[in-house]
Amino acid sequence: MANKITAIRGMNDIYAADAEAFDFLISSAEAVMHQYGYHSIRLPIVEKTELFARSIGEVTDIVEKEMYTFADRNGDSLTLRPEGTAGCVRAVIQNGLTHNQVQKLYYTGPMFRYERPQKGRYRQFHQFGVEVFGLAEAQIDAELIVLSARLWEQIGLENLELQINSLGSAEARAAYRDILVAYLNEHKALLDEDSLRRLDSNPLRILDSKNPDMAELINKAPKLIDHLDEESKLHLDEVKAHLDDCGIEYVVNPNLVRGLDYYNRTVFEWVTTELGAQGTVCAGGRYDGLVEQIGGKATPAVGFAMGIERLVALLMDKELVPAQRQADVFVVLLGDNVTRPGMVLAESLREAFPQANIQMNIGGGSFKSQFKKADKSGAAYAIVLGDQEVEQKIAAVKPLRDGAEQETIAWDDLVDYMQTRIN
Ligand code: ATP
Ligand code: MG
Repeated sequence: MANKITAIRGMNDIYAADAEAFDFLISSAEAVMHQYGYHSIRLPIVEKTELFARSIGEVTDIVEKEMYTFADRNGDSLTLRPEGTAGCVRAVIQNGLTHNQVQKLYYTGPMFRYERPQKGRYRQFHQFGVEVFGLAEAQIDAELIVLSARLWEQIGLENLELQINSLGSAEARAAYRDILVAYLNEHKALLDEDSLRRLDSNPLRILDSKNPDMAELINKAPKLIDHLDEESKLHLDEVKAHLDDCGIEYVVNPNLVRGLDYYNRTVFEWVTTELGAQGTVCAGGRYDGLVEQIGGKATPAVGFAMGIERLVALLMDKELVPAQRQADVFVVLLGDNVTRPGMVLAESLREAFPQANIQMNIGGGSFKSQFKKADKSGAAYAIVLGDQEVEQKIAAVKPLRDGAEQETIAWDDLVDYMQTRIN
């Protein structure tokens, strides 16, 4: 026997109950998007490597060691997208979507990062992302947070903690950078290898270190939020005021810096303590400089991305996924000449009742085994077709849930008869 071919480590097949939870989450998120008037955008999975290097930042974990980068057959360096914002920014610029107009966009799909696979951390994972272009007001930062909270409410997720912070303006960050570097230099002996390297290239990234040995040093470091520019301070206050008005609780986490370089002002994460170490289920913030940095006209922007796998894990743990709709009708086919009329009959019901779940037995089997399948489908009615029924152009309709009497109905009357029975 040939060797079995398996999937790539960290890239999962999603099926059965997990797939249902996945679909439930996506359709719930889309419903919220429509509630707020956001529009769908569909983006390529592969982009030029340079796009990510320039947007996410050369000295970030993602760009330094997590990207799936390869040479195209013509030698171009391409990368499987590790996140959605960079591609979305490229797309709005390239298609002229930010000229004198606001864009409120959402997308979903797979992302790729070469990370160490573990619970809640995979090499192919999925995000649902939301991006708004053209609005600088704190109101839109707040709207994004509020609409994510609405999604949690609509899918029944409780106990997510909202953490927010401000990264200030580029100038405030530059000034703070000097203060931070001075502090880190005083404690140089405590820095790990990654951090030593970043001390020159990108010291703010050190604050995002996941190394527990660095935690104390980072906790005691001077905080960017204490060195904000006046406008960013006011902006953060406005975001907080809107959250207060809408009854959204939050904690200000001065250590929240995010793993990507493009953010300024508001950053936020929704965190759970119920998934172990991988507790952030949704993260985002403002990135006013990015559109210009990628070659567009300066455009304020803000967005976030949800980690679908982590949210699916929560939905599964808490049994929050609604049961699949059961069958309404199961068509039982018993005889030599029943398959063709049976199919036509099932189609006539699907035509008349587009919302209904109409299943049909395929592959024969005894009366008993077909009724077993009908029961398993949860159908309210079995419609039985044998050779004799076909000859007389009738069908037996047998209620399966309430023990009511079976009735014989002419094909021509079947849709009418089922009208009051299928809801
Ligand atoms: P983390 O700190 O957990 O590595 P991150 O800051 O790298 O997250 P973002 O780039 O902000 O993550 O992505 C947004 C969300 O996507 C995360 O909050 C998380 O829910 C999810 N996510 C990120 N990386 C992975 C992964 N490798 N596997 C599964 N989900 C992920
Ligand atoms: Mg990460």
